[in-house]
Amino acid sequence: MYDYDVIVVGAGPGGSAAAEKCAKYGLKTLLLEKEKLPRDKPCGGMFCPTIRDVVGIYGTEVEDIVERRTDGVKVYFDGKIMIERDYPSFMFLRKKFDYLITRKAIESGAKVIDNCRVSDVLADSKKVKVATKKGAFTSKIVIGADGVNSIVAKKTGLNDGWSEENCALAIESDIKMSNKEIEKRYGNCAVGYLYHDFVGYEWIIPKDGCVNAGVGTKVSCSGKLRKRFDEMVRKHGLEAGNVKAHMIPMTLLKNTHNCKRRVLLCGDAAGFVIPLVGAGIEPAIISGRAAADVCYDAVKYEDYSIERFRKHEEYCRTLVKDIKESALQLKVFEFAMKYRLLKPVLVKRFLDTADGAGKHV
Ligand SMILES: Cc1cc2nc3c(=O)[nH]c(=O)nc-3n(C[C@H](O)[C@H](O)[C@H](O)COP(=O)(O)OP(=O)(O)OC[C@H]3O[C@@H](n4cnc5c(N)ncnc54)[C@H](O)[C@@H]3O)c2cc1C
Repeated sequence: MYDYDVIVVGAGPGGSAAAEKCAKYGLKTLLLEKEKLPRDKPCGGMFCPTIRDVVGIYGTEVEDIVERRTDGVKVYFDGKIMIERDYPSFMFLRKKFDYLITRKAIESGAKVIDNCRVSDVLADSKKVKVATKKGAFTSKIVIGADGVNSIVAKKTGLNDGWSEENCALAIESDIKMSNKEIEKRYGNCAVGYLYHDFVGYEWIIPKDGCVNAGVGTKVSCSGKLRKRFDEMVRKHGLEAGNVKAHMIPMTLLKNTHNCKRRVLLCGDAAGFVIPLVGAGIEPAIISGRAAADVCYDAVKYEDYSIERFRKHEEYCRTLVKDIKESALQLKVFEFAMKYRLLKPVLVKRFLDTADGAGKHV
């Protein structure tokens, strides 16, 4: 009656992590991706110290594809150093990192079809039907891990778009630089730049033979973002080639209701991002794996009710708590910027919250 137990839409970290765990549970799993794999994703590729969770899940293979391990972070305010502290982090290229998790899903038994854009999703009380250019597939459950512009969220009525206040826009580019030059300019540190007249931040994230330069702010303030990015790059004496922009959700879906009968959203599709720092890779993995736990229970007990699917929030409650706390901090940050009250002690608190190592798994 069904082609699959679970269809996962989107092979980013959230979707691949969900598909891997579903397949490991023995669920017949299909992972659909619109791009040709391996695909890239606009991103700084920085894992805060929370990387320990991810290494715990995927083992040393993750460490093998690290571009750089940084020791610290520096934050400048209006051109003056505000904070310099230890902050051991891992820097990745997303093309390599995401494909590692997708390969894990394949090894676990999930079927992956790339170049396969999902165009429609229909979930009724009996089944889910997912339409793609390569044909339609049926399943017991669909997981929407298709990012900030999720088609699953739209077609199932869970989210028809983020408001400008609840979403950020970020622009980035990987720019070649020798490792010697990187260390001379930035040390072995990720660097953030804050300005009194800008409610957002610029960053330089050092990698291996290149730096990722970027800038991000809420969509409602993003009118001249590309100009700011160009000026930033010029100030650093750099020349950006492949410039990419993408949105980042800044809030969980209302009341964390990222589900309905037979449908569950994870990762960016549901707003699982630490909003103050715009970190969503690890939250996508954690929420994707929790989605797989829900699917396992649902199939085992043949219970596809919304109550069953709402257990997802419980399964990732520490992450949900951190996201909510960070959303409050974002409000404090915006207030402090507006009234010029930003102090190093506040920025230190913000960084401590993002340093949630080892507590989500
Ligand atoms: C400029 C920028 C910098 C960032 N820097 C960082 C950082 O340094 N650290 C960090 O932790 N986070 C960062 N983020 C956030 C991070 O990139 C996301 O939170 C993360 O990628 C979310 O993962 P995901 O699996 O939910 O979605 P995604 O990674 O967006 O994956 C979704 C997948 O779904 C596919 N898809 C979409 N629609 C369809 C469809 N209709 N059919 C089939 N497939 C579809 C897409 O092609 C994509 O592969 C940054 C974001 C931006 C924009």
